[in-house]
Amino acid sequence: MALIVQKFGGSSVADRDRVFNVARIVAATRKAGNDVVVVVSAQGDTTDDLIAKAAEITSEPSRREMDMLLASGEQISIALLAMALSVLGVQAVSLTGWQAGFITDRAYSKARIRRLDTERVESELARNRVVVVAGFQGMNRLEDITTLGRGGSDTSAVALAAALHADRCQIYTDVEGVYTADPRKVPGARKLEQITFDEMLELASLGAQVLNNRSVELAKKYGVELEVLSSLNPVPGTIVKEVADDMEGMLIKGVAKDTDVAVISIMEVPDVPGMSFKVFGALASRNINVDIILQSTGRGGNKDLIFTVPLGEAENAVEVLKENQPRFGGKEIKVEKNYAKVSVVGAGMQSNPGVASRMFEALFEANVNIHMISTSEIKISVIIDEKEADRAVSAIHGVFIP
Ligand code: ADP
Ligand code: ASP
Ligand code: MG
Repeated sequence: MALIVQKFGGSSVADRDRVFNVARIVAATRKAGNDVVVVVSAQGDTTDDLIAKAAEITSEPSRREMDMLLASGEQISIALLAMALSVLGVQAVSLTGWQAGFITDRAYSKARIRRLDTERVESELARNRVVVVAGFQGMNRLEDITTLGRGGSDTSAVALAAALHADRCQIYTDVEGVYTADPRKVPGARKLEQITFDEMLELASLGAQVLNNRSVELAKKYGVELEVLSSLNPVPGTIVKEVADDMEGMLIKGVAKDTDVAVISIMEVPDVPGMSFKVFGALASRNINVDIILQSTGRGGNKDLIFTVPLGEAENAVEVLKENQPRFGGKEIKVEKNYAKVSVVGAGMQSNPGVASRMFEALFEANVNIHMISTSEIKISVIIDEKEADRAVSAIHGVFIP
């Protein structure tokens, strides 16, 4: 008998029929003789709807109250799924995140799991019950409800699989696996049979929302092999693991788009030592994540510093920079929000110098202007206008994955 963790995302449990569809998948797994722990997200667009409800009350809700509100979405799903399982004759019990032992830090809305106490889950399994756990949520030391950030149910599932030493961790979603690009946007996107943790981590971090990047980080750390598959179509999905058997010999594993990008420019900073330290030190002291950095060459004793931050941190970043501006000077601080980051991902890019030029050629042919470029061993990213991003993804995809 194996222990299997199965996670179902929001669209997989969106309505009555989908809940029963999930219940049938879980029931079949159980009836095949396995122990099953199920992790579910909030139904359909529930989380977005709850965020909209909060916005009707205030534009600045406290993060604590937001977590209290958002966690309710997953609580609905676990109860409904446990009921549906019972209708199908499967013994099941629903547990909130904190009942399932998720202890997090205090960072409301982006909490990290500190500890996972699995006693309750294990005792329910020992009573022959399917355990249905609310994803995305936990409890902090103040006994307040916390959430793990958008897409956090994937992380809940991987954490449970790691802590319980599960034999399998299946992430069921609304597409058949991990594709070379978002299959809803790029018709020619191909399903990957396998992908490595590192490549998947990069794709997820660069905007492929099919798996949350922290869940991949955790899977890599604890060696939890993942299977991404469809809850609607029973065909083989994608295996995410440490070393993939690269049967297709593909260098490029995917193209991703991220619109959560703001570009901040500080114009005419004095061209003397220490200025970058003062600017980025100030941002780091407030935990603001800086991504791509560009510095112009000096002219007239000045240079420009241009960099990207997540959209949600842009206003905060500008505020911090204005507070610290006396230390580094600069003529003007600008923030622009209509940009996107488009990236190609694949291990071994460094030893294939042609990749960057083929990517830039594709963008040239699609008449897309590049504002910034960043490269690493495993990816090449460009910052372009957001309105051109889907076209750019298709053009680049067409070159690498015909
Ligand atoms: P869930 O609710 O199951 O967590 P998500 O909406 O978070 O599902 O993630 C699945 C979606 O991710 C798909 O519907 C697809 O549009 C999108 N997606 C983006 N990039 C990729 C990719 N490379 N492969 C597969 N899906 C992708
Ligand atoms: N319901 C949460 C969200 O929409 C968590 C998740 O779906 O993983 O972000
Ligand atoms: Mg998701």
